[in-house]
Amino acid sequence: MSVVGFDVGFQSCYVAVARAGGIETVANEYSDRSTPACVSFGPRNRSIGAAAKSQVVSNCTNTVQGFKRFHGRAYTDPYIQSSKPSVVYDLAQMPSGTTGIKVRYMEEEKVFSIEQVTGMLLTKLKETAESALKKPVADCVISVPSFFTDAERRSVIDAAQIAGLNCLRLMNETTAVTLAYGIYKQDLPAPEEKPRTVVFVDVGHSAYQVSVCAFNKGKLKILATAFDSELGGKAFDEFLVNHFCEEFAKKYKLDVKTKPKALVRLYQECEKLKKLMSANCSDLPLNIECFMNDIDVSAKLNRGQFEEMCAGLLARVEAPLRSVMEQTKLKKEDIYAVEIVGGASRIPAIKERVSKFFGKELSTTLNADEAVARGCALQCAILSPAFKVREFSITDVTPYPISLKWNSAAEEGLSDCEVFPKNHAAPFSKVLTFYRREPFSLDAYYNTPKELPYPDPTIGQFMIQNVVPQASGESSKVKVKVRINVHGVFSVSSASLVEVLKPAEGEEPMETEPAAKEEESKMQVDPDQQKAQGDNQKENGDKKSETEDMETTTEDAKQEKKTDQPPQAKKPKVKTKIVELPIDNSLHWQLANDTLNLFVESEGKMIMQDKLEKERNDAKNNVEEYVYEMRGKLHGALEKFVGEADRDTFSLKLEDTENWLYEDGEDQQKQVYIDKLAELKNLGQPIQDRYMEAEERPKAFDHLGKQIQQYMKVVEAYKTKEELYDHLDEADVDKVDKLASDAMIWMNSKMNQQSKQNLTLEPAVKVTEIQAKIKELFSACNPVVSKPKPKVEPPKEEKGEQNGPVNGQEDPDAQPGSPEKTPGAADTAHPETAEKKLPEMDID
Ligand code: ATP
Ligand code: MG
Repeated sequence: MSVVGFDVGFQSCYVAVARAGGIETVANEYSDRSTPACVSFGPRNRSIGAAAKSQVVSNCTNTVQGFKRFHGRAYTDPYIQSSKPSVVYDLAQMPSGTTGIKVRYMEEEKVFSIEQVTGMLLTKLKETAESALKKPVADCVISVPSFFTDAERRSVIDAAQIAGLNCLRLMNETTAVTLAYGIYKQDLPAPEEKPRTVVFVDVGHSAYQVSVCAFNKGKLKILATAFDSELGGKAFDEFLVNHFCEEFAKKYKLDVKTKPKALVRLYQECEKLKKLMSANCSDLPLNIECFMNDIDVSAKLNRGQFEEMCAGLLARVEAPLRSVMEQTKLKKEDIYAVEIVGGASRIPAIKERVSKFFGKELSTTLNADEAVARGCALQCAILSPAFKVREFSITDVTPYPISLKWNSAAEEGLSDCEVFPKNHAAPFSKVLTFYRREPFSLDAYYNTPKELPYPDPTIGQFMIQNVVPQASGESSKVKVKVRINVHGVFSVSSASLVEVLKPAEGEEPMETEPAAKEEESKMQVDPDQQKAQGDNQKENGDKKSETEDMETTTEDAKQEKKTDQPPQAKKPKVKTKIVELPIDNSLHWQLANDTLNLFVESEGKMIMQDKLEKERNDAKNNVEEYVYEMRGKLHGALEKFVGEADRDTFSLKLEDTENWLYEDGEDQQKQVYIDKLAELKNLGQPIQDRYMEAEERPKAFDHLGKQIQQYMKVVEAYKTKEELYDHLDEADVDKVDKLASDAMIWMNSKMNQQSKQNLTLEPAVKVTEIQAKIKELFSACNPVVSKPKPKVEPPKEEKGEQNGPVNGQEDPDAQPGSPEKTPGAADTAHPETAEKKLPEMDID
């Protein structure tokens, strides 16, 4: 299982992985840890990430960025409609009514759903993780803004599926940051002590998020979150863009907004200027050459003017801070630290305002850009059985209160109940009890529409099916489990009917169900709440009253049933059977299963198409590179190895190919380039081979010469009766003598032939032939010269030292004939160590 965290930002994305050394943010193929959230569509392929970003100007209408917040929204959504003027590509309506992106891809007009576009981006991030981990990646944790609603979250989960990812958890961005902060802290208060309360502020490109988190040893609990979903670096860029549009309209009579390319360039320059202003108070220039209609534009701005211009934006910094303090009823003195992350947190005026609000210096102990991805990877590691991570429980909150609405059984019209209040712990499950005679539907919705940064409070409708009255005719008890899952998504996860069974004749009735009242007030903790159980159980107590409330609102039939029994009477024991009920979900903007499957399939095809296109491009580049390399070398290193006529022919061929690459060869199939390269190599390879031979030949001869000399030395030593070789067989030594002499004759004759040979022709002897000769000589002579000397019985008293190294020369690796040993070792070898130190020859 892979352990990967993805921070899918509005502007840039980060990938963190868990490896043996810990959590690490990994770089993409451009050695950059930040990957732009950008997809560009071309006539033959897609480019994603940094490659796409480089096409923002050149292919502006088909290069898509800034799409993170289109998730889970109808095309008619006011947010989508208001975004249209600030994006230079076209938005379109999907058949389902959601938002799509219209581009030209593969020479055709195409509309991709937002899930597909994010799916493409995730495909790229997945590849980055895979090349870092060198294994396939599926399991991961992906970040989303804490204020995302259900529809937005489900849409991101679908995007992950399109990219072949198994998202184990959608993690709120600020929660990921709290985890990245808390898990390494060694000095957190003990579980029973007062928690350490830290405020986290993330100012990204599109949004501003704040959360308050309580830390104890081994756990963190989010207390409250607040946000301004429209306050981020982008809002400041827009102010600057509008300012310069006005200035250029006056100064140069240019209507920038009519030209997408110019607008994109202005956005880029304004962003650069904004960043410069974070570090600099003086007047800073903004110059763009050939901006529009061949006009160069220039302007300047300083930080003071910028802050004045954006005063309205800066004034919005305070509200979310105030909100979290009010929600948690904390005082500023209760705040241990204020941690700030996100790219736009570098704007000095933002930092000042946050710091002033809390009357505290801000902490920047976390990496402002990478903390979200690192937190996600940590969460993934916690969820992964393959990684051992310090026990750490994470309790998040639901950002908006969720209510259920249903038609009351007693014909009293609609009933309504808040099931998860704001800041309720999440993930969490509750069991609700209804008494019904027929199928019924529950409508889930966010009950504070004004708070939502989303136009529709609907979550979805859940039809509880197959509900029938009890055999007695009374209403049936239906238990419905509602939950906020690990992704922060609401669902009715199961429903069951408690069927009261008639006891068989003579059978003593027996109770299998807990007493009704107990059952009604029971709040079940979702088993998949990881390690947050402790906290949640504590909350169980609080929740009792909530359910009881609900049940009074749900139950008419219950009252009926209760009045059947005198209050004091001993309840008859009843046997019951639990029947699971099917639930029919109709979720707000849920992608249909078959559509999702089509998207998965289509992503697979596009990945394949990109791969083929890459191979085709590589094949083309290979031809181009070969042309340039050869042209240079033909008049350089290779000059001596080619005749004039051949050189002219080859040069001409190279020139023709270069021209062809710009004309007919500009856009050909991969095979055409492969064939072209082979054609060129037919001419070029023999020349290169001759060059290589000439380079390698002297070394090979030298090697052979040394080897011959080595064997001759042994023969000489044998003849002079050196003790080291006196155990060798004479016939064998004669054989070595002859072989070495023959080799010498062969070498001299070949060297002689080669010295007369023209370098532009095939060499008289090939390096491989010389190497074969070396090998042949070695295998015939080495067994003779490295024959071990018979062991001499040592005097008894020295026995103890027999097995130890002699003269400190023992070398456990030394083997007779080992190619690594240097020739000539025999000259220095001590007789006692002869077995190990006999001459050993090199062999390639
Ligand atoms: P979001 O969190 O909204 O999804 P994101 O994660 O892509 O977006 P970040 O990468 O945190 O956003 O921040 C990007 C923003 O930070 C951009 O607007 C960028 O211009 C801004 N930014 C980065 N560095 C600086 C700086 N030195 N001064 C001012 N702004 C900066
Ligand atoms: Mg971010």
